[in-house]
Amino acid sequence: MSRATEHTGETENAEPAAALSVIANETRLDILEALWGFDDRPVRFSELFDAVDISDSAQFNYHLKELTDQFVRKTDEGYDLRFAGGQVIRAIRAGRFTQHPDIDPFEVEGACTRCDGPLVASYADEQLSIDCGDCGKAHGEYPFPPGGLVDRSPVEIATAFDERVRHLHCLAADGVCPVCSGRMETTIEREEPCCLDVAVRAEHVCQQCRHELCSPIGLVLLDEAVVAAFYDEHGIDLSQRPYWTLPWCVDDEYATVEETEPWRIEVRIPAGDETLRVTLDEMLTVQETTCLDCEADLC
Ligand SMILES: [Zn+2]
Ligand SMILES: [Zn+2]
Repeated sequence: MSRATEHTGETENAEPAAALSVIANETRLDILEALWGFDDRPVRFSELFDAVDISDSAQFNYHLKELTDQFVRKTDEGYDLRFAGGQVIRAIRAGRFTQHPDIDPFEVEGACTRCDGPLVASYADEQLSIDCGDCGKAHGEYPFPPGGLVDRSPVEIATAFDERVRHLHCLAADGVCPVCSGRMETTIEREEPCCLDVAVRAEHVCQQCRHELCSPIGLVLLDEAVVAAFYDEHGIDLSQRPYWTLPWCVDDEYATVEETEPWRIEVRIPAGDETLRVTLDEMLTVQETTCLDCEADLC
């Protein structure tokens, strides 16, 4: 935004508001959707016109022009979607059928890490949560777009959710916002227990869009090769275990703050009759790994 517009007193959101008003029209969304539906782009004006349910070509032309530059790219070969146009369609599709997604809570595999009770997944406000049906202990509550519920059985939803949570945390821990790709900053907290019922935790906040993710410290270790290798030695494929069945990914009793200046946190990861000890710094980077039972650096 230019300084000139700041001085005219226009709000900072004038440009996004203008962009959004361009697509606040059914015919224009139909045009974007039709364009998106072509495997081969660019497409000719006549092809695109035929793909949209509108009979007046002058009207069609007018709406197409309004979309051009910002959402649609016009070249000598015809019309193509710009990235922003694709984003509009992706957002609509992700939320389609599901303005008010109504899925009954369903049981997922595994048992409560505290009381061994059954684990139940439920969906509200575009978040999927897994909680103990007996004691209520939270086993994670993370964003899951309603589009992810479409055409999936409860078991498939649970698997997709697990994959998504791993992916979200992998990006966040690497400093990339999973929503806008902005810079994500991670802080370590150990105050009052949060929504996840853990005190020692990592909080990832995007400096650009303010998207937030909160997680027990262990969760960032899910994609560590050394942890996967440790499980491998115990005959377990870590990638096949839903994160909520791993107590160190949902409880903070496996994490110990050893120092705070700078931060040094130990996470104990049990598998079979052995325990892997991993120490992390304030960036949640692995500093050391030791097997507590055989004392090897890497058992
Ligand atoms: Zn429980
Ligand atoms: Zn962001």
